[in-house]
Amino acid sequence: MTVPLLTLNDGHSIPQLGFGVFKVDPDETERIVTDALEVGYRHIDTAAVYGNELGVGRAIAASGIPREELFVTTKLWNSDQGTQSAVDAMDLSLEKLGLDHVDLYLIHWPRPDLGRYVESWLTLEQLRADGKTRSIGVSNFHRPHLERIIAESGTVPAVDQVELHPAFQQRELRAFSEPLGIRTEAWGPLGQGKYDLFGEQAVQNAAAAHGVSPAQVVIRWHLQRGIIVFPKSNSRERMAANFDVFGFELTDPELAAIDALDRGQRVGADPDTAT
Ligand code: NAD
Repeated sequence: MTVPLLTLNDGHSIPQLGFGVFKVDPDETERIVTDALEVGYRHIDTAAVYGNELGVGRAIAASGIPREELFVTTKLWNSDQGTQSAVDAMDLSLEKLGLDHVDLYLIHWPRPDLGRYVESWLTLEQLRADGKTRSIGVSNFHRPHLERIIAESGTVPAVDQVELHPAFQQRELRAFSEPLGIRTEAWGPLGQGKYDLFGEQAVQNAAAAHGVSPAQVVIRWHLQRGIIVFPKSNSRERMAANFDVFGFELTDPELAAIDALDRGQRVGADPDTAT
């Protein structure tokens, strides 16, 4: 089972399939991430605000997996946006993770009401120059936010991590990002279980045709559409199933049928108005 490596616009590479730890209980994180690493995941997506960086770090340390085989992402929380506050937040994240650098550091939300995302972006450039992160990117940024940081810094983010699942496919944003070399990462790739995605006929039909589960079909759809994806599960069985998606391929009509499920249905907050 080989997870494809995608090249980012700064030359570094990222495993296209990873493991996300949003809402993973800090007390259980070490055990759950240990399971994920044993299953084979090498890309872990966490964030300062998830409160579980310590557990992620412990699992990494205990695994004995060489650092260069792992891809670790964490994120700058809204209240730490700025210059010194962002430097301090990154240092604290690294300390909790027990790492001297992460692979990807993201501004978690633009929070345009705070007026500090450009300043934060310039700080991320500095953090990258200082070797504290290999790559820098953003999360929940819409086109105007992306345009602004690119215009004011000259640096194009390596990724934009946004809500993305079959009912909310972010086509316009992806059409803007792709030519600039900004990779799209999906959060909530399974719709966070907030609508009956697995009951959709297009998903059911593909699952039956390939003898796989609806979740495997949806993860496969993300991968074949070029999206970076890191589904979350506390159960080792589901983690393993979500990782076992390289033994089948969706056909063009199956992909198109899932494309047709797009209806602009968010399950999370709108970055323009989130507070
Ligand atoms: P998700 O779409 O991955 O859904 C997780 C839910 O799906 C869980 O309830 C889990 O039990 C269920 N599930 C997982 N595998 C399943 C399977 N095989 N069969 C049936 N159910 C299954 O949602 P998510 O965790 O919110 O998103 C993934 C990751 O994205 C997060 O863990 C986090 O790392 C990241 N994220 C980022 C942001 C952001 O603002 N940048 C926001 C939310 C999540």
